[in-house]
Amino acid sequence: MATLNHLERASRVLPGGVNSPVRAFRGVGGDPVFVRAAEGPWLIAEDGRRYIDYIGGYGPHILGHGYSEIAAAVSEALSRGTAFGAPTVAEIELAELVIDAIPSLEMVRLVNSGTEATMSALRVARAATGRDRFVKFEGCYHGHADPFLVAAGSGAATLGVPSSPGVPEAVTADTLLAPFNDLAAVQELFARHADIAAVFLEPIAGNMGLVLPQPGFLEGLRELCDRHGALLIFDEVMTGFRVAWGGAQEILGVLPDLTTFGKVIGGGLPTGAYGGRRDLMSMVAPAGPVYQAGTLSGNPLAVAAGLAALRQLDGSDAYERLEASGGSLQRGFEAAAQHHAIPLQVHRQGSMLGLFFTADEVHRVEDVDASDHDRFGRVFHHLLAAGVHLPPSPYECLFISLAHGEAEIAQTVESFDRALAAEKDHRKS
Ligand code: PLP
Repeated sequence: MATLNHLERASRVLPGGVNSPVRAFRGVGGDPVFVRAAEGPWLIAEDGRRYIDYIGGYGPHILGHGYSEIAAAVSEALSRGTAFGAPTVAEIELAELVIDAIPSLEMVRLVNSGTEATMSALRVARAATGRDRFVKFEGCYHGHADPFLVAAGSGAATLGVPSSPGVPEAVTADTLLAPFNDLAAVQELFARHADIAAVFLEPIAGNMGLVLPQPGFLEGLRELCDRHGALLIFDEVMTGFRVAWGGAQEILGVLPDLTTFGKVIGGGLPTGAYGGRRDLMSMVAPAGPVYQAGTLSGNPLAVAAGLAALRQLDGSDAYERLEASGGSLQRGFEAAAQHHAIPLQVHRQGSMLGLFFTADEVHRVEDVDASDHDRFGRVFHHLLAAGVHLPPSPYECLFISLAHGEAEIAQTVESFDRALAAEKDHRKS
């Protein structure tokens, strides 16, 4: 029998060879890198090759991989036990820290993933308003719970149809869709439906590359929600503790009623959270009637990792440093594109970047769809061969960590410049 490579072997036992779809490289073609270890800004493959990592675990690793304080906190927690099914003081400390950081938060509930956070926040909003419908934006991702798995119908402001087999139409019938950055479409939805419980969105969208809210969009949503008795829910699973200590809401100055978290809040271990106004969170069991529970919620190892990560960030100059390295990466990408006359939009908020090969502005998912995905794939593979691992899809953000130094940024920009030079040759051939 011929020896199987890792992907072939994995594909016999794991659907598509992976445990989460984007890892399979379907967005760029080719075989994924199987990772053995990671340190600082580096991924180390099974074959020993080293890559400058811009996946960042899809968001958690703001401090870089293998951060010593997190490792020490987790091993100390491990020595005391892995799961108690009883409350701990560390959970209070994490909750207090998160509430202190996030402007709109008065109470919080810890869960195990971003998906759990969003599905639970939606349940609270529906319970609090006694309404079932909610507005979701095309291109925003809120995890894989059924009500969020909705594809755009035709035209703006359409009713949701399931985007995955197995999701009953009845479950997405109450999901109303609007294009991101399109306040008029949301206005139209409110005019048509008197029973909207919530407007649910990533305030800075990180699941269609990186797409920023246009001036007035979030303020307009806040105003519409207030006028119609609906809740505004920010999904800050990606942006929370990533774009600023106080999340996107601190930067943008619009406060939601509920917020969801994941990624950075768990320091690389499985944790999510949702929280918000005290009157809303007081509805959650056992304080109130809205049921939500979890065997491993507030898990001691995950809480130790999250606390260690957040304590490193709290009051530090982390966000200024990330802004500096993010800016230098952005300028490098833009200079290379200009030098080779390749149309490219680079979006950035702090340490999150989106790369779109298009001459046009990108404000919603249709604009991302219209960008040059084939070119993204070629540039991705050129960089991979040069030891730079971008996320394998134009719909994912690049993440920079505090471990990415000037040398790594410079090497990335140089490789990017060579990848774009190769694009010119590709165009000629
Ligand atoms: N919400 C947002 C904005 C996300 O980016 C993600 C994951 O990427 C989720 C929710 C789901 O989180 P998880 O994958 O931890 O379930």
